[in-house]
Amino acid sequence: MNLPGKFSRQPVWLDGLRQHGVPEDQVGALRRLVAKAANHELVQANPRYLAERLGLPEREALHLLVTAVAGGLFTLGWQTTCPACDASSETIQNLAEVDNQVQCHFCHFQFVPHLDDEISATVTATAVLRPSEKQHDDPAFRADVDARLGKTPALAMINVPGFRQLVFNQTVPEGQWLGVKRLVIFFSDLRQSTAFYHRRGDADAYHWVHQHFQVMFAAVEQFGGTAVKTIGDGIMGVFTEPVDALNAIAAGMKGLAELNETAGLADDDPLSLKVGIHQGSCIVVTLNGRLDYFGETVNIAARLAGLAQGDDVILSQEVVADAYVCQLTESLGDLHPFASQLSGLPDCFDLYRLTLKSANQSVTVW
Ligand SMILES: [Zn+2]
Repeated sequence: MNLPGKFSRQPVWLDGLRQHGVPEDQVGALRRLVAKAANHELVQANPRYLAERLGLPEREALHLLVTAVAGGLFTLGWQTTCPACDASSETIQNLAEVDNQVQCHFCHFQFVPHLDDEISATVTATAVLRPSEKQHDDPAFRADVDARLGKTPALAMINVPGFRQLVFNQTVPEGQWLGVKRLVIFFSDLRQSTAFYHRRGDADAYHWVHQHFQVMFAAVEQFGGTAVKTIGDGIMGVFTEPVDALNAIAAGMKGLAELNETAGLADDDPLSLKVGIHQGSCIVVTLNGRLDYFGETVNIAARLAGLAQGDDVILSQEVVADAYVCQLTESLGDLHPFASQLSGLPDCFDLYRLTLKSANQSVTVW
């Protein structure tokens, strides 16, 4: 019998998702998927496949799945795929157990797996979702899905906003690392924040610094990035595509200009941002219980932010070489090439200073 309205039976687990702020349409999409899906579709499932079944963009689906993992509805799994023979490893339950040196069990090839390439993520429904069923794995079905959609890189999963907070038991063991082939990293810092605190006093200054964090976090999220951490009054964040990073920074600077305007800071002491963006390989480690990124690419990105003067972005050659970035810089402002040494590094770097059109000028060109 179908009972109408509030008397109809709704699984309790739906409320957990709602409490975590999952939008109602996504809660409904997951409820329908769980009701309809064959058992093998929810065992070691490729998150890209579930995104397709949920009718959601990949990033939104990953966000939903991470929340569902935190709520005990799914478990995560990690696999390494051999670059020589394409054979996949057994599913590993915790990221902590993924080795940074792998020997293929099939062809014995030895390789260093990367989070954005050879290491992929899967999810499996728990008994909370499918209480009466025994799990039924279907490797042929999974192989078909992977061939059609590509595996979901582990990096896409761990860079979901909230992964670090919600799935805190999935980390790399202290002292260990996992590799990333290519990551876009930005550092931002507030110009002259020491003087700003001195003039305004701690509480008032921090009020505006906090507002600036909100503006920046929203911009990073809007363009699919992850704010990894704050460092003093600055932010370190990561993206997959350099054009998304630059779009986010431009949106953040625009938001900051609006904040200056509303707050009446524009004439007196406007908040302005110094930013550096670089891309390259790096390693993921766990520090203070959180996943974090380290390596020369990270250090260079930080140095680039140090070369900025305010309302500008320092881009590395690697970032500007991206065709989409190159196109975007033309609409954003003026791009000036320059060469500079970076403290602690022997080479001279070819760099670009992008001065944004609007920022804190009275005439806005956006
Ligand atoms: Zn192999």
